[in-house]
Amino acid sequence: MRILHAASEIFPLVKTGGLADVVGSLPPALARRGLDVRVLLPGFPAMLDGIADLRPLMRIGPVFGAASVTLCAGRLPDSRLPAYVIDAPFLFRRKGNPYIGPDGHDWSDNHRRFGLLGWMAAHLASGELDPEWIPDVVHAHDWHTGLTPVYITQNPGLRVPTVFTIHNLAFRGIFPMDCNYDLGLSMRRLNPHGVEFHGNISFMKAGLVYASKITTVSPNYAREICTPEFGYGLDGVMRDRAGDLSGILNGVDYAVWNPGDANILEPYSADDLAGKKACKRALQMEFGLSTEARGPLFAVVSRLTSQKGMDLLLAALPELLQQEAQLVVLGTGDGDLEAGFRYAASVNPGNVAVCIGYDESMSHRFMAGADILLVPSRFEPCGLTQLYALHYGTLPLVRHVGGLADTVVDINDETLAQDRATGFVFGEASRHALGARIREACEFYRNNGSAWEKIQRKAMRQDFSWDDSAANYEQLYRGL
Ligand code: ADP
Repeated sequence: MRILHAASEIFPLVKTGGLADVVGSLPPALARRGLDVRVLLPGFPAMLDGIADLRPLMRIGPVFGAASVTLCAGRLPDSRLPAYVIDAPFLFRRKGNPYIGPDGHDWSDNHRRFGLLGWMAAHLASGELDPEWIPDVVHAHDWHTGLTPVYITQNPGLRVPTVFTIHNLAFRGIFPMDCNYDLGLSMRRLNPHGVEFHGNISFMKAGLVYASKITTVSPNYAREICTPEFGYGLDGVMRDRAGDLSGILNGVDYAVWNPGDANILEPYSADDLAGKKACKRALQMEFGLSTEARGPLFAVVSRLTSQKGMDLLLAALPELLQQEAQLVVLGTGDGDLEAGFRYAASVNPGNVAVCIGYDESMSHRFMAGADILLVPSRFEPCGLTQLYALHYGTLPLVRHVGGLADTVVDINDETLAQDRATGFVFGEASRHALGARIREACEFYRNNGSAWEKIQRKAMRQDFSWDDSAANYEQLYRGL
């Protein structure tokens, strides 16, 4: 069975978040099950540089405002899976963030850039671009590829089924209606039953309405997005399509994320945790934090946004410091939140440290060195960092929402007795609820040394590898 994955990011070439990790690891997991899998990617500079053996396959154009568009073929650097790359210099050869220009705003031609991505996926599906390899199913990821199912259904002779995966419903790919001059969607689809969203076009909605099947990245988020609270105005569409919607939990690539990985100072395992203490000390020293603190070392590896509850954390910080705990933050995001964390570090030297930036290797050192990883999200489709933390014996402290609720078992008398507990969970999205759980986590850390280690081992032995999830995707494809 031939499966084409279309996406805008892929680890390790272009990554702004969890989407890249999933697109980097799900296709190889499917290939290991015997499926014939390829990926389609936009030709950002890092894609063109990083894909091996890249050669032109077909010259197309001008289309979508680009004078020259060339479909190239090559291989992914690690898995060696076949990859198609769209080389459209006018649209994609721009350095930096794939979606945002140097002025901090979305590129004004994003509708054309990602319209082209969906259009190319549809034309690969039709066999016009590579007659040697025609997919049986096209799997499109997030709003960037949301037009894929529309372009496929616009060709009445084309019957290739599509799967559309929501990685984050908050990013809906909304553009003014007159962008359709560039996109060429048929008039029949420009209404509220189709791609229209309150007078605009939404690429996300297009994917939701026209895909054969919809998935999202955790069972709990699949339920949540059918409600107004989490639906971002699309909950009605989600309810209409509930019969075709399922939640399949993301997996972890344990070859990349493990406490013996190349970024770790002193490798350790569930059987021998000694190295973790050295990793903690090294992290404290790297950031000028005291190595004498009585409380645990909390870490954040995250976009610094209100989605991730980072404002709640800033507000709850006094509670954390009262417990003689420490906080180390790695992230970028909203200017106000970045400034808030910088200020917190400047007035609490030795106990709070912040790195505003994006650093893959440092994120591994955080996972290994911290005692507790904070993920106090307002909403969280799946969340990957808590899964990584578990495997490094760093107990997650998370809000009971989305995929966080599916993957972290709260520490309480009952779960401790059943030997199921893996982290700290709180309910309400408020500074008080977060602050209270932080305090309780600190008390537990101070008073339960041996229980802590037992939970660490339990956490490290959780299996969130891709095996089960890839099997679920395969079942979905076979059903189509
Ligand atoms: P989201 O995709 O919503 O940002 P996820 O938890 O699904 O959240 O995935 C985030 C991914 O991005 C993880 O791999 C995490 O380690 C990584 N990440 C987030 N911020 C940073 C950062 N500042 N530096 C390095 N990696 C980061």
